[in-house]
Amino acid sequence: MSAIVAIVGRPNVGKSTLFNRLIKRREAIVDAVSGVTRDRHYGKSDWNGKEFSLIDTGGYVVGSDDIFEKEIDKQVELAIDEADVIVFVVDVETGLTGMDEDVAQLLRQAKKPIFLAVNKVDNAQRQADAVEFYSLGLGELYNISSINGSGTGELLDALVESLPEKEEKEDDGLPRFAVVGRPNAGKSSFINALIGEERNIVTDIAGTTRDSIDTKYNRFGFEFNLVDTAGIRRKAKVKEDLEFYSVMRSVRAIEHSDVCLLVVDATRGFEGQDLNIFWLAERNKKGIVILVNKWDLVEKETNTTKAFEENIRKQIEPFTDVPIVFISSLTKQRVYKAIETAVEIFNNRSVRIPTHKLNDTMLPIIEHTPPPSIKGKYVKIKFCTQLPTPTPQFAFFANLPQYVKDPYRRFIENKLRKEFDFHGVPIQIYFRKK
Ligand code: GDP
Ligand code: GDP
Repeated sequence: MSAIVAIVGRPNVGKSTLFNRLIKRREAIVDAVSGVTRDRHYGKSDWNGKEFSLIDTGGYVVGSDDIFEKEIDKQVELAIDEADVIVFVVDVETGLTGMDEDVAQLLRQAKKPIFLAVNKVDNAQRQADAVEFYSLGLGELYNISSINGSGTGELLDALVESLPEKEEKEDDGLPRFAVVGRPNAGKSSFINALIGEERNIVTDIAGTTRDSIDTKYNRFGFEFNLVDTAGIRRKAKVKEDLEFYSVMRSVRAIEHSDVCLLVVDATRGFEGQDLNIFWLAERNKKGIVILVNKWDLVEKETNTTKAFEENIRKQIEPFTDVPIVFISSLTKQRVYKAIETAVEIFNNRSVRIPTHKLNDTMLPIIEHTPPPSIKGKYVKIKFCTQLPTPTPQFAFFANLPQYVKDPYRRFIENKLRKEFDFHGVPIQIYFRKK
């Protein structure tokens, strides 16, 4: 699991410009190709071989021009709680403002690495202007221009230097479940329904990062870990339904888990915020189970369940091969089924298909429906294998892999899903030169 870096600062200083410069380009391209609207404020980045997750906090504010000052302070506090490292962006063009000073005051109390990035330093004159930000008392200045990229290398050098070392994953082989979802969806109620009074804690194991924790449970004959983080436990529960909160609080838990149980409030339907958490899990290659909670409150007619399910599947396209379980944390309806399904998804995620079996199944399908020829060139796929990765990834070897386009990749994925059981599990498919 990678460290979490949060970009904070008042509106218009250039946070999202910096974010876009720092995230992996590959990711942006993939999004463009699939044409799906996704959360554009969370991404992965790496520098000097160190990977980290990046969150643009400003991206979660609607109408960011007239955002309330109080709101920014709250975001910064949450970022301090949930992130490992903070990049505080200020703007040399407008100079130091009162809002910057408020944010700096919060950050000075934080016991986390803070990097003060003075943005829009596009030329030498502005280098000189930047010095006024020393008065914020946050140490060294990183003068950057997010637009032309200058200075961002130095910022990244220092930033990855400060990241916590990746600790060895303690692996007891048991599934790690993260219960995620927007505020009030019923996550705590679900966990209570699951572990209840008879909560049977076997051990408390310190997790892979300083403050994340797996707690081992044995319920309904299943052994599993529930992923929690100290940050989430420590702080009073957030009730405000801001997208930012649910994302910030989900990221660490998701990254630390094997399977995400995405709790959705049936009375509100499946919405953008649910979708963004879904994509966080998908991007992190985690198994996913969607739990439609508060089903006891929904008035049911013949088609209610089916319609609800279809609506969700439409929104999560193209990754629709995901279990959806209708539950009530209040009446405990299908809470067992939820866990049974999560265990199943965990098992699917670790399936290894023997190479001969994979080839025997997939090559005839490919022969029957080969990739369409492009500019008179024919792609021949001769061999495939599952890669020895922790999550299902497949390599298909071809003479002209660069001519295999996204629709064919999806065709192959659908066939793999049909022939083998990868229900609830994101899979990666690569075409490589034979
Ligand atoms: P955010 O609200 O903090 O996310 O700010 P944005 O990233 O949306 O940027 C606000 C404005 O500042 C946009 O018009 C950007 O083009 C501009 N901007 C961002 N970075 C730079 C920079 O390095 N130099 C200059 N001159 N303008 C920048
Ligand atoms: P969290 O913020 O996601 O942890 O949500 P909570 O577990 O605190 O639940 C939010 C509210 O929804 C509380 O008032 C719960 O009592 C209520 N609630 C949660 N699950 C259910 C359910 O399955 N049925 C009903 N009727 N209410 C529920």
